Amino acid sequence: MPLQVFARLRPLNGKEEEGGTTCLQVIGNAVEYSAGHQQYPSAFLFDGVLQGQQEDVFKASGIPLVEHCLAGYNACILAYGQTGSGKTHTMMGQLDSETERGLAPRVFEILFSRLREDKDQEASYSCLCSFLEIYNEQVIDLLNPSTPLLRVKEDPLDQGFYVAQLQEEEVHSVEEVMNLLRRGAQNRRTAETHQNRASSRSHSIFSFTLTKTRRVNDHQVSVTRSQMKLVDLAGSERGANEVGIIQKEANFINLSLTTFGRVVTEIVEAQHHGGMGHTHIPYRDSVLTKLLKSSLEGNAKAQIIANVSPAASCGSETLSTLQFAQRAKGVRMKAVINQDLREEVLMRKLQAASEALLQQQAK
Ligand code: ADP
Ligand code: MG
Repeated sequence: MPLQVFARLRPLNGKEEEGGTTCLQVIGNAVEYSAGHQQYPSAFLFDGVLQGQQEDVFKASGIPLVEHCLAGYNACILAYGQTGSGKTHTMMGQLDSETERGLAPRVFEILFSRLREDKDQEASYSCLCSFLEIYNEQVIDLLNPSTPLLRVKEDPLDQGFYVAQLQEEEVHSVEEVMNLLRRGAQNRRTAETHQNRASSRSHSIFSFTLTKTRRVNDHQVSVTRSQMKLVDLAGSERGANEVGIIQKEANFINLSLTTFGRVVTEIVEAQHHGGMGHTHIPYRDSVLTKLLKSSLEGNAKAQIIANVSPAASCGSETLSTLQFAQRAKGVRMKAVINQDLREEVLMRKLQAASEALLQQQAK
């Protein structure tokens, strides 16, 4: 399954409307970009172009991913775009507004309503949430911001990366998820004020892990674990030339985002050459790409929502967002259900443990 890519155009804001010109035209699932001096516009084709309300975005992007997650797949939505293009509006929106709430509240509303509808007597569910921010290649726990620096570690068994000591909270209802979203957003604002930095320079990742345990027979239970990640990326504009931005900060933002871009390009290249087997994908080069690895390869289904302003004044950033999104559309994903019979998991763990022991002895 390809990585799905949507473009989302926000309306012109008051200031932009004064000038009145736009650089974009939408034709079906395509966006045409034209700068004043160009004879012909450049066209970009997407899986969908979203211009409407929050609910339309949810229907096109959110609902299918909730279905994937419930079926046992990892799922991920990434909001990409320059600062002010509508990333946070898309992912979170106004959490308590009937019409303006974004993807996160809607995704969890439908997820919990689907779980409640499950009449399978043999199945039980558990839901764990975490919320983190990546700033200057450091991980901050948005549910527990006073924790000292968190480290990204690699799980030797399934080769994924995870954040050690990140707080995970169990939730039982959409209200509990909403409380975590509010708490995280508040902590993000507080950290910004105290450390004098802007949210546009950080990436945030809200993770929701759903575990379904189901009795198969008297001796076996099956465990299906899927993770939904909602990612609000840092502004894609080049920060280095901005007034007042510290060079180190700019480098770090660029490190995570440029690595993300390289990872996407490498995946596309590898797949055009018939598989990922021998290609080196540079996940390890930034914190963001380490943490997104499980969402971009193997058993995941992912979406990028490329947010753009139609204003001519944003033209060059809009063009670079559209170009990035177009490149990402080449990603092909192989989806695998994360289901293991308990015994199989145990066997693999035992095997890995004995291999590790042998290796140690060999040293
Ligand atoms: P970003 O997170 O990319 O920096 P925001 O989501 O904060 O951008 O959006 C910037 C401003 O534009 C906010 O005031 C937001 O409410 C508004 N906005 C963004 N997208 C839309 C949209 N689709 N419809 C209406 N207002 C929007
Ligand atoms: Mg934002």
